[in-house]
Amino acid sequence: MGWHLVVATNNRHKLVELQEIAQALAPDQLHFLPPETVLGTPWASVEESGTTLEENAYLKAVALFERVGQPVVADDSGLEVEALGGRPGVDSAHFAGSDAENRRALLDLLRDVPPERRRARFRTVLCYRDWLRTVCVEGIVTGWIALEERGEHGFGYDSLFIPDGEELTFAEMEPSQKNRISHRFRAVAALLKFLQRLEIEPEPTPGTSVGLVRLPPWLPWLLRVCGAAVRSDHAEQLGLAVEGALRAGMPVRALAEGLLQLWPFAGFPAAIEALQCAHSVCRRLGLAWQPPERLVQDDFGRREHGESLFVSVYRGQAERVRERLRELSPVLEDAVLRGAYGETLSREGLTLLERELAAVAMLVVGGWWRQAQSHLRALLNQGITPEQGEELLLVLRPLCSARQWERLQEEWQQAKLQYEREDASTPGVVSLT
Ligand code: IMP
Repeated sequence: MGWHLVVATNNRHKLVELQEIAQALAPDQLHFLPPETVLGTPWASVEESGTTLEENAYLKAVALFERVGQPVVADDSGLEVEALGGRPGVDSAHFAGSDAENRRALLDLLRDVPPERRRARFRTVLCYRDWLRTVCVEGIVTGWIALEERGEHGFGYDSLFIPDGEELTFAEMEPSQKNRISHRFRAVAALLKFLQRLEIEPEPTPGTSVGLVRLPPWLPWLLRVCGAAVRSDHAEQLGLAVEGALRAGMPVRALAEGLLQLWPFAGFPAAIEALQCAHSVCRRLGLAWQPPERLVQDDFGRREHGESLFVSVYRGQAERVRERLRELSPVLEDAVLRGAYGETLSREGLTLLERELAAVAMLVVGGWWRQAQSHLRALLNQGITPEQGEELLLVLRPLCSARQWERLQEEWQQAKLQYEREDASTPGVVSLT
């Protein structure tokens, strides 16, 4: 049982620390594996050509994921010293040469800096990547640079770093003590929180692709909200649906994220009006407004990430759909891959399945049937059962005309048939959130 993440590193120290941290935080749930256990040989790594820890972690995660095809995590860490303007930072490993030379160089640079000005922090960025998502989390521990090296444990700059609230350097502590407070510990804790939020079974049961998805109780409300938000003459239904969603326990962030997703499906006017409505309902109910956050990974790799997400959603149809988009306009293809898939659909706040349901609601009520059809199929691709799908789609009935409702039934039957055909011809399909 549990998450088995292959770690993009050849640094034994890091791996051992990650394993100890996982064992303490989530025993039997979170497992970090050295790359050689999956590859059979040590991993050749990649050039760390990024200018930030995030970029380097991303580069390593992407490269390893391509090799192993299963969830991976890459660690990039650095020591940031205030008096040196944040250096060595991303250059920590190669600051002066070997670990010992790096420490000596740091002490030399800080020779005239008094104790009270030797502020520093260790920062770890962990980049997680699987078939659907690439996410960076960070962990920070603040402290001081000692006047001289102290302690025998650990590695790198451990013998020079005294965390806040402690007397000992990391290298003077027992490893278990460092691993309870370190930057790496904090990053793993953030990663674990993220994995738990995905609300899927940690590992698919081999041979099954359905019945793994746990649906949150507020999900029908997401469909109501998104369906109502598409039509300007449904303002009253939208207000009621937003209130119902919040009262049913839908997190404000998930609500805002669902409504923000209106822009690629229904345009900015719909998104702005709906977000304004949700914002004022939140205020009336005394709930803090939580706007969706920007993506951690910024522009970096967005198109590439969009492409892999697109393949996960469209599977065997992906190349054909892309060709169609490209034929209509390369600008459209890029907007879909980078903007819709690489950005909107990759943000946190909603799972991909929840986003697909929101998209179905918008497309059905908006009457975009060909698009609705492929998103209905995507629901099945993501492990929702036909029964779950039927039950959820019922929610859209009051928002549909008689003709629309009839058409939805036809499209749903069609989606199920196509899914069955495709499923039989696509071996080894991974189960998606
Ligand atoms: P990278 O993440 O492999 O690029 O490592 C950067 C460098 O930061 C390492 O070579 C170490 O010198 C240093 N470093 C990273 N994590 C730690 C730590 O936990 N303790 C001490 N030094 C570290």
